[in-house]
Amino acid sequence: MEIEFRDLKRQYKYIKEAVDENIANVLADSHFISGPEVKELEKILSDYTGRKHCISCANGTDAISIALFAAGVGSGDAVFVPDFTFFSSGECPATCGATPIFVDVNLDTYNISTVSLEKAIEKVLVEGKLKPKAVVAVDLFGQPFDYGNVKAICDKYNLLLLEDAAQGFGGSYTLSNGEKKMAGSLGDISTTSFFPAKPLGCYGDGGAIFTDDDNLATMCRSIAVHGKDMQHPDDSNAKYNNARLGMNSRLDTLQAGILLAKFPVFKDSELDKVNHVAERYTELLSDIKGITLPLIADKYYSSWAQYTIQLPKGADRAAIQKELKEQGIPTNIYYPKPMHTQGAFSGTRSAEAECPNTEQLCGTVLCLPIHPYLEDEETEFIVERFKRALK
Ligand SMILES: *Cc1c(COP(=O)(O)O)cnc(C)c1O
Repeated sequence: MEIEFRDLKRQYKYIKEAVDENIANVLADSHFISGPEVKELEKILSDYTGRKHCISCANGTDAISIALFAAGVGSGDAVFVPDFTFFSSGECPATCGATPIFVDVNLDTYNISTVSLEKAIEKVLVEGKLKPKAVVAVDLFGQPFDYGNVKAICDKYNLLLLEDAAQGFGGSYTLSNGEKKMAGSLGDISTTSFFPAKPLGCYGDGGAIFTDDDNLATMCRSIAVHGKDMQHPDDSNAKYNNARLGMNSRLDTLQAGILLAKFPVFKDSELDKVNHVAERYTELLSDIKGITLPLIADKYYSSWAQYTIQLPKGADRAAIQKELKEQGIPTNIYYPKPMHTQGAFSGTRSAEAECPNTEQLCGTVLCLPIHPYLEDEETEFIVERFKRALK
């Protein structure tokens, strides 16, 4: 059996007609930048997440940077970021001129620990050098972060809450009053990525920002197009009136057309299917002693960007990966290195972090293939071979 880690070819076979049609329409129309599909997509995604504004942009990394610039985050500010995440979550605060302060995560959900977060904020306050300004809360592997408690901490210390929903799009969190909040609606400002392997991916790079705040939305629209003057934003000359410094970060019309074709399938079938695959894994793996399976906490719904398990301490992870690879089963390690130990932060305040859970996870996690089109027999095959490799 030859298994893909995330099978985009199989997905394309399933949605080919709609995708090809939308691509052909964009080509015929030749409105490659800011075409009508871009606005249509933004409307659909703001409705889906329940947010007032959706601002599309070139990728999920730019989305974080644009959001931070729009909120005025910069030099002298401390931005609290989980130590266990993709590089962008900490890279963008630093490129904005702020100092990322890395915070530990919970071993069961892989998401930011509120105990570690509050400790880190207090420490920065005691040091008195940086101003606590924002939290980047990541929906890691598809599961939204601990919204209720992180939001309470942000309110207590008056911090901006930025949700990095690059992996969480499609997931949700249900409040105690029963209201369901979608990933993308959990931050004062939220961002996502449409990188092909993300839960909702396009066929290249893409990203989006979500907020209910009119001023932040206007700033994001300006920053994404060279800081254009927002007095007359739709004037074709607006980008030659530059009110502030910005960047060139737009979602192309082709990618918007592809996302418009993929979105109904994502929403109506892929999320259910990928949750079925995760349930099968959890059932089949639950009798193996010593491994830890991903915990989806009560009231959370995951979009399963990854299915990440923890191997027993001392297991030879490289040998297990090699043996699985020989059987046609690809695996990955997300993430092998704590953020605070990345060379990019060496010698800075960001490198000073104590995150034992992150260190443990970096040494033990293993991500198994997961996508909506993985068949039951394939899941069974992967688990059976994994059990053999573990012995
Ligand atoms: C993928 C990812 C990003 C960046 O998205 P790109 O579109 O690749 O720039 C940011 N944060 C997290 C958690 C991610 O997984």
